[in-house]
Amino acid sequence: ATERMVAFAETVKGGGKKKEIDLSWREASVEERLRHALINGIADFIEEDTEEARLAYPRPLHVIEGPLMDGMKIVGDLFGAGKMFLPQVVKSARAMKRAVAYLTPYMETEKDAAGAERTSQGKIVTATVKGDVHDIGKNIVGVVLGCNNYEVVDLGVMVPCENILDTAVEQGCDLIGLSGLITPSLDEMVHVAREMERRGLELPLLIGGATTSVQHTAVKIAPCYHESTVHVNDASRAVGAVAAMLDPSKKREFDAENRQKQEQLRFVYGQKKERTLLALAEARENRLTLEPRAEDFAVPGFTGRRVVHDVGVEALQHYIDWTFFFRTWELRGKYPKILEHPDCGAEARDLFAHGQAMLQRIIDEGWLTPRGVYGFWPAASDGDDIVLYADEAHEEEILRFEMLRQQGVQPDDVPNRCLADYVAPLGSGQPDYLGAFAVTSGAETDALARNFERDHDDYSAIMLKALADRLAEAFAEYLHARARRDWGYGSDENFSNEELIAEKYRGIRPAFGYPACPDHSQKRKLFALLDAPGVGIELTEHCAMRPGASVSGIYLAHPRARYFTVGRIDRDQAEDYARRRGMALDQVERWLSPHLGYDPDA
Ligand code: SAH
Repeated sequence: ATERMVAFAETVKGGGKKKEIDLSWREASVEERLRHALINGIADFIEEDTEEARLAYPRPLHVIEGPLMDGMKIVGDLFGAGKMFLPQVVKSARAMKRAVAYLTPYMETEKDAAGAERTSQGKIVTATVKGDVHDIGKNIVGVVLGCNNYEVVDLGVMVPCENILDTAVEQGCDLIGLSGLITPSLDEMVHVAREMERRGLELPLLIGGATTSVQHTAVKIAPCYHESTVHVNDASRAVGAVAAMLDPSKKREFDAENRQKQEQLRFVYGQKKERTLLALAEARENRLTLEPRAEDFAVPGFTGRRVVHDVGVEALQHYIDWTFFFRTWELRGKYPKILEHPDCGAEARDLFAHGQAMLQRIIDEGWLTPRGVYGFWPAASDGDDIVLYADEAHEEEILRFEMLRQQGVQPDDVPNRCLADYVAPLGSGQPDYLGAFAVTSGAETDALARNFERDHDDYSAIMLKALADRLAEAFAEYLHARARRDWGYGSDENFSNEELIAEKYRGIRPAFGYPACPDHSQKRKLFALLDAPGVGIELTEHCAMRPGASVSGIYLAHPRARYFTVGRIDRDQAEDYARRRGMALDQVERWLSPHLGYDPDA
């Protein structure tokens, strides 16, 4: 039967055009039907089939441990072997959850009599760490682990270290999985690892999430904790890693290999760190100096902040960059070409159709209320600071965004960049302006996603969050175009979606926490300037934006403005930056920790 199912899954995967719905599988035995439903993620008949099995088996638990788990085992194996794609797996998990939910009341009534519990491969506690709200990746991994018969205790988002460790101990978990998206979460994970060591825990630690990396895990996290500390960044590998770490016969070899790889990465890192950085003064000497050509500077149609309340999802959908939608679902390839991809094309088309259908419901049923705020202020650069003023005469300073400068040794004729270089210097006589923005696709997403989860529908919950993220980015793209029109230089623009995504327009919208301005804590000033909380966007203590589907940043209008990576900074710049910000050095070092080119403890 397994082989037949594999063959069937292959035909589904490579199936090309949408087929007539084939219901011949409905004639097979109940075991085969359940297996078929799970492998193909069809929840339509799951309850009637489960009921039939319940009546046929001595106990409801036997239905789970028999045909249902057989089906999920095939799903897990196919996914692990790269023969099944993530969206399909999440749909399979939905069918499984619905079946289990159907059986649960029956199991509860007989519990006292039998006292039997479902056996699992192991218990795993997962959490998005303190100060971070992003959980799509964590939720996906949770679903996939569930498919492989691991029991997952998901603590949600913004979870303090103590909660995670207490839960792991109290509930007798076998492994801890940490997730996070923003750079301050990296430090938080180091903190958790240290605490695990201090409390003498013996559980393997799994690290994942967008800014996490094998390098950071090897260099900063693993050395803090004696047990296996493993980095994985996609769901299919997470299962393999968990399986290896919890299997006594594989653990030793897996751990040894992981440690060896991490040792290598630390060596490479150590050598890289040896590379000299320029003194801050030298880097400043090699700054980018713009010619003061009047046509490169523009005066916006208004100054101050404006709330944007007239833009709905319907308008925003045309600005969506779908490539990232597929990436969230671990389908790699550029949209729209991915729809014709020889391996994952059929899956991509199916996923896209589901995404479009939900997007239509979001529009028709008014699920989300996008909200945003943006504005322009007279601005000048003062060294590496961008200073905002209440007036064009630069008499009343509102705030400064202190910026960081590249300190790496550059090739000939390449400047050491700093975002302040794109703003006219103070006293140049050239009027200049800085824009700022914050947008969210809506505060409703989390509650709606929770409803889906309550309904055992992780597929729709993840789909909604993926769409909400896309809509927030689409809002940023839309609003940037509007800002360019306000600024004047973009009033004749007529870019297609592809051209917008390729950033064919003039100017950039750097986001704090990203490579050109990596300090997330500058968002506090940005949010105060815009009164972003007034449109429902808040910051956590680590400056993650809530709702998670939010985007913020500054607008730079100069035609030569480009994104770049600040890269590592040296102690002299950290000290200078701390002074300019009026912050203690150790505080600055904490915010910039992944970007330090020196050891702050040395
Ligand atoms: N179209 C994509 C956008 C990718 S990220 C999507 O829908 O997800 C692009 C955004 O990240 C930019 O608009 C900018 O806000 C930010 N960004 C990218 N590179 C950056 C850098 N080097 N420094 C600062 N911000 C950057």
